[in-house]
Amino acid sequence: MIFDAIVVGLGAVGSATLYQLAKQTPHVLGLDQFSPPHTMGSTHGDTRITRQAIGEGAYFVPLALRSYEIWQELEELTEQQLLTKTGGLFIGKEQSAVQTHNKPGWLTNTIEAAEQFGITHQILDKTSLRDQYPQFRFRDDDIGYYEPDAGFLKPELCVSAHLDQARINGASIRTNERMLSFTETATGVTVRTNLGEYTAKKLVLTTGSWVTASLYDTPYRNLLTVYRQVQYWFDVHENHAAFTSDHFPVFILSDLDVYGFPAIGSPSEGIKIAMETYAKSTTPDAVNRVVSEAETRSMYDQYIAPNFSGIGPKCIKSAVCLYTMTPNGDFVIDNHPNYQHVLVASACSGHGFKHSAAVGQVLAELALQNRTDFDLTSFRLDRFAV
Ligand SMILES: Cc1cc2nc3c(=O)[nH]c(=O)nc-3n(C[C@H](O)[C@H](O)[C@H](O)COP(=O)(O)OP(=O)(O)OC[C@H]3O[C@@H](n4cnc5c(N)ncnc54)[C@H](O)[C@@H]3O)c2cc1C
Repeated sequence: MIFDAIVVGLGAVGSATLYQLAKQTPHVLGLDQFSPPHTMGSTHGDTRITRQAIGEGAYFVPLALRSYEIWQELEELTEQQLLTKTGGLFIGKEQSAVQTHNKPGWLTNTIEAAEQFGITHQILDKTSLRDQYPQFRFRDDDIGYYEPDAGFLKPELCVSAHLDQARINGASIRTNERMLSFTETATGVTVRTNLGEYTAKKLVLTTGSWVTASLYDTPYRNLLTVYRQVQYWFDVHENHAAFTSDHFPVFILSDLDVYGFPAIGSPSEGIKIAMETYAKSTTPDAVNRVVSEAETRSMYDQYIAPNFSGIGPKCIKSAVCLYTMTPNGDFVIDNHPNYQHVLVASACSGHGFKHSAAVGQVLAELALQNRTDFDLTSFRLDRFAV
């Protein structure tokens, strides 16, 4: 059988792509080396922030808005809650030179994007911040941007929902099967795995942090860098009520690269807070997946104690996860430079989940119609200097 398309990598982006493909044709195959959702890539840890005014670039806003619609469609189909609107509080200095997801001026860009797209928001001064959110220790020059429709997505549930709906629409899914190589023919692509060979008119590579292997023989071999990130759940049992979503929204402290979530489970489950770090690059195979006591203590002493009130030092759990970064924090969504029947997407750079549903639609449209109405100018490989 010749598939209309094969998707290799069924994490956030690949599962969304397979669903969108399967809505158009059942002759599609999805492959993953593990059994998604899993904890080896970039899509685990219970929660991901979503927001609509995107400080990483206003050109992301259409992807975020379309994703909100797709999450709702999936919620209706699966009768599960995927998106919880807690409001989002994004704090920092105006015009800060500190980079968030490799973008300076992130908070100011966020405010401008909200104004440009008419996204409901409020700007909070220092006094309002201190009155409304005593859980934070604000700095004197902090301002707050509050977006009521921001909140969190449940990444594992989103991946499962996309895959289940793809299957219901007729897609074939093969897990625990690893692509070893692919070759292009005049009419399509043959994918070779550890278990077999499959042919399709189009191949979509959504292999997350593993994507670098597919760019090895191109000028973009060094474009993407993988970084180890740690998600921590710290203790709030003594002050649990102050950290539930009716009092405490998802947040980003943009000048510190610290972000987090309200308490979403029982008082003993803590709240998730993380800090972005780009000190040392790694690979998905070499990364140290163990979180040491010393790094947990350092996270608490350096980032939690000085910036929050009411969070205890006990770490309830932690999880290592991977960022795949381009130098400017934008995504790659393009044809493979060497193969006309192959599409490649590395939509991560630490902020990809919220857009993944729409990126799946874009990739499905490119694979089957060779066009999309979304503006992909900023995501072309040739935009990056190599
Ligand atoms: C700690 C952390 C926090 C984040 N927070 C946010 C946030 O709050 N908001 C937000 O919007 N985004 C956030 N992100 C980013 C977001 O989670 C990622 O952009 C997104 O999950 C990436 O999905 P992906 O599909 O590209 O990769 P993955 O989900 O890792 O999927 C890639 C898949 O490809 C498979 N694969 C790879 N190679 C092969 C092969 N050869 N054969 C078969 N299968 C293969 C892998 O097994 C994997 O399942 C965060 C990321 C991390 C790590």
